[in-house]
Amino acid sequence: MIDFLIASNNAHKVQEFKRILAPLGINAISAKEAGFDLGEVAEDGKTFRENAFIKAESAFLRTGLPSVADDSGLCVDALDGAPGIFSARYGGEGLSDRERTALLLKNMQDVPESQRTARFICSICCMINHEDVITLEGVCEGSIAFETCGDGGFGYDPVFITSEGKCFGSIPAQEKDEVSHRGVALRSLFEILKDRKDLI
Ligand code: IMP
Repeated sequence: MIDFLIASNNAHKVQEFKRILAPLGINAISAKEAGFDLGEVAEDGKTFRENAFIKAESAFLRTGLPSVADDSGLCVDALDGAPGIFSARYGGEGLSDRERTALLLKNMQDVPESQRTARFICSICCMINHEDVITLEGVCEGSIAFETCGDGGFGYDPVFITSEGKCFGSIPAQEKDEVSHRGVALRSLFEILKDRKDLI
């Protein structure tokens, strides 16, 4: 299988990509490992899918390497789908993950348990070249905790409880990967790539 560049500057995402793809036999390398600086990309798409395409295309144009990008976020029903595509910027630029989760909990403080449903969405764009682009999505259903339930993972992990009642902030990384939006999306990508004889 050819090597793929992980089109992300987010160290947590890079770690998850590698953790999920390596056992499937897909070699995914970070921009740093490949000796490239991806720079900042304006994520001005209106959907996760558009933003994933923007990131994959930008990395492909900079490096010439087959690139895989992820645009992802948390959609909370009681907040009309927020933070959604603005998950990384919820509450404004420059907040820490901890400050963002605190803001989310505050905005959810009066929402009863039955209405705290939410889902993580991950849109993946794999650009092998301009004529050969694979896009797919992974979803993980769950709900928002009343207070942080662990400090593992990254982003909103400490306040997300899966439908099976497990908090992303307190379960081992591999257990998260088995059900996470990113795990679902990347395993779907593998199912497509493994039949591509031209890439092996
Ligand atoms: P992106 O880089 O624009 O795709 O931003 C994604 C943002 O969504 C991250 O900065 C996190 O805040 C949040 N997010 C996405 N995936 C996860 C996850 O697996 N756990 C926790 N937060 C996540």
